[in-house]
Amino acid sequence: SIPLGYFGGIGLASKNGILFKGSNFLDVITKIDTVVMDKTGTLTKGVFKVQKVITKNYEEKELVSLAAALESKSTHPIATAIIQYAENLSDTANLSETAISDLEEIAGHGLKGIIDGKVILAGNTSLFKKFNISYEQAVDEIEDTVVLIAVDQQYAGYLVIADEIKEDAKQAIADLHALAIKTVMLSGDRESVVSRVATILGIESAFGDLLPENKVAHVEGLKKSGRRIAFIGDGVNDAPVVALADAGIAMGGLGSDATIETADIVIQNDQPSKIVTAIKIGKITRSIVW
Ligand code: ADP
Ligand code: MG
Repeated sequence: SIPLGYFGGIGLASKNGILFKGSNFLDVITKIDTVVMDKTGTLTKGVFKVQKVITKNYEEKELVSLAAALESKSTHPIATAIIQYAENLSDTANLSETAISDLEEIAGHGLKGIIDGKVILAGNTSLFKKFNISYEQAVDEIEDTVVLIAVDQQYAGYLVIADEIKEDAKQAIADLHALAIKTVMLSGDRESVVSRVATILGIESAFGDLLPENKVAHVEGLKKSGRRIAFIGDGVNDAPVVALADAGIAMGGLGSDATIETADIVIQNDQPSKIVTAIKIGKITRSIVW
């Protein structure tokens, strides 16, 4: 039978908005020595806003509506920002009426689809490299997230998009370090954005431009080196790495269904500081059980 202390631990966690899917994880969480985190939606709000649009041979409205038409098929936080921006531009054609065929969501890269017989791409510099399309040099200097647009293999402009860091993220990282836990951030976003966020938050090591399989390889490497890992993520692409971690944690509010399903622990209000609360509850439970 399960000792009473574990029930108490699960109940206490639940009062704090943390769902443990099994009492064993109350124990596992006390043994982790490395917390690996996703960026978008985990440490940042995942609420992107379009800051700027740069076009080449296109009107802003024309470019934005092409991008938004494509993004209307995606649930990525970047897509939401672009659709919102397009809707705010007056006389933008009704997005839902734009016919799109052959839509592909390329994980960690962006989108490809056909509109009015033209191949439209919307995504990051890796997407453009994959399709062998050159873009303005200035893009590499931008510190925010950039969505590049191409029409029939021709660079057509880009949107600059920014996201905000969550209020409790910095304290959460400091509290983890105080518990002698190492912090790592793995992100599909550009290296420049990732290293800026890592510096602001005081995260020890951070890697950008990662595809879902690169995140998995990274966590496998850490596990082989003997680290006991908690991974926190929110995205569709995070499910494999959540499954691989000793303690897989999902953000319950913003998180994708697949990630929440796979997770051992769910943080209901999406606050990263709840990982610290979870560890503390695990420790209290242990002290009662043992
Ligand atoms: P993170 O690991 O930070 O959560 P993701 O793996 O979700 O990031 O996405 C990685 C990158 O792929 C994004 O920063 C963006 O450049 C690109 N991307 C993904 N989905 C889209 C989309 N729908 N539109 C444009 N770009 C996208
Ligand atoms: Mg994410």
